[in-house]
Amino acid sequence: MRRLAIIGGGAAGFFLAINVKELMPDLEVTIFERQHKVLSKVEISGGGRCNCTNTFAEVSDLKQVYPRGATLLKRLFKQFSPADAYQWFERHGVPLTVQDDQCVFPEAQDSHAIIDCFLRESRRLGVHIQLGTKIEDPTTLLQDYDFVAVTTGGMTSHQPSAGSPSPLWGEAVEKVCPSLFTFTIHDPSLTALMGLVVNDAIVSIPSTPFRSQGALLITHWGMSGPAILKLSSYAARHLAEQRYQSPLLVNWTGETNDDTIRQHIIYNIEQNPQKLIDNLRFPFSYPQIPRTAPLALYGKGVGGEGLLPARLWSYLLTKTQLQGKRCNELGKKGINRLVNILTNDTYTIASRSPYKDEFVTCGGISLDSVDKQTLESKLHPNLFFAGEVLDIDGITGGFNFQAAWTTAYAVARGIAGKL
Ligand SMILES: Cc1cc2nc3c(=O)[nH]c(=O)nc-3n(C[C@H](O)[C@H](O)[C@H](O)COP(=O)(O)OP(=O)(O)OC[C@H]3O[C@@H](n4cnc5c(N)ncnc54)[C@H](O)[C@@H]3O)c2cc1C
Repeated sequence: MRRLAIIGGGAAGFFLAINVKELMPDLEVTIFERQHKVLSKVEISGGGRCNCTNTFAEVSDLKQVYPRGATLLKRLFKQFSPADAYQWFERHGVPLTVQDDQCVFPEAQDSHAIIDCFLRESRRLGVHIQLGTKIEDPTTLLQDYDFVAVTTGGMTSHQPSAGSPSPLWGEAVEKVCPSLFTFTIHDPSLTALMGLVVNDAIVSIPSTPFRSQGALLITHWGMSGPAILKLSSYAARHLAEQRYQSPLLVNWTGETNDDTIRQHIIYNIEQNPQKLIDNLRFPFSYPQIPRTAPLALYGKGVGGEGLLPARLWSYLLTKTQLQGKRCNELGKKGINRLVNILTNDTYTIASRSPYKDEFVTCGGISLDSVDKQTLESKLHPNLFFAGEVLDIDGITGGFNFQAAWTTAYAVARGIAGKL
């Protein structure tokens, strides 16, 4: 009887075990898990609800959601796409539901729906699970097993300091560092605004191409929210090289054209010459939209009612030293300062947040060192890789689990193809 050893009882490990057994019921499959529990990350994922995939309906280019691995995934989605994953779960007794933001969750809103499915299916198919067994070198297992698959997840523990890439078991490794983290910013006046959300901000790192747009949350340590997490993913390697110290630009308006903002400010101060600037808020006069300004600017919802939160406006005005001034006293310089603070507000990232909020690893087994269809090692025949151990990672939204399902499925097919 042919034997497969899977190292790592996480998302990719279980998905591989079940799919390979469905394709080849006679293959003996054993999962080796170092902990005394399997699927721990699935359990805590998505706040305990497990955002297991995404419809990808709002994704026009995979690079937007997979800063690393997009090209390979595009190819592998032909074998097992997000739609296939959706159907797979429904077929295996996990009804799913799609949120407005296109994130997909179990209808039960509980990650245990996925865990129960994996445990039930692996039991039904006769998958062996060996807990408390850490495998240091997968290549040694190739003496006893016909096939070995490494599904050990993120590798930050191998190279905690984002050091230079060093090969693992002879396999090439792309530099490893954390992705999906929040920023610590030492600015007590900003962090006093903790809890405030701006629904559509643009954040960027000056002099780099790294930029993202979305909701921004001010926290008691700095900044978080989808826009920041996305930026941390796009700029993961750059920020690691900078030791997480970097300038950060915030455009609080979500509008990329400074002139639109300028026109809007001029319009509003001309309409309200005697009013204190403190009593106007961006976009200032929602019902009096100047006909010349693009409507999109107002539809995006800055703050709860389409306005910048009042405490944030007051904080920004303090920074410009314009608080207490009447609109007709602002002058050209005052207007420039307002445009600048709204669209080019500068901060200093002091570090990654002190909380263990990093969700995934950037880097891992080099994609050049594996076969692009089967993910078999080019160096060690019959050794395969799937999941986060590979140099593939995505932004939040179910994209990382989708990468785990797709790569695990490709390995299952790859092994089946060898028999
Ligand atoms: C808090 C949190 C929330 C998340 N939420 C989401 C979400 O909602 N949606 C999403 O798409 N992604 C989410 N992610 C990311 C997602 O969990 C991972 O991308 C995914 O789990 C990767 O699957 P994997 O099987 O490759 O690795 P893992 O799920 O990490 O599994 C690897 C397994 O291998 C075991 N192992 C490691 N080394 C060895 C060894 N030497 N010998 C034996 N066993 C070993 C580990 O103990 C672990 O059980 C979240 C991550 C975190 C941390």
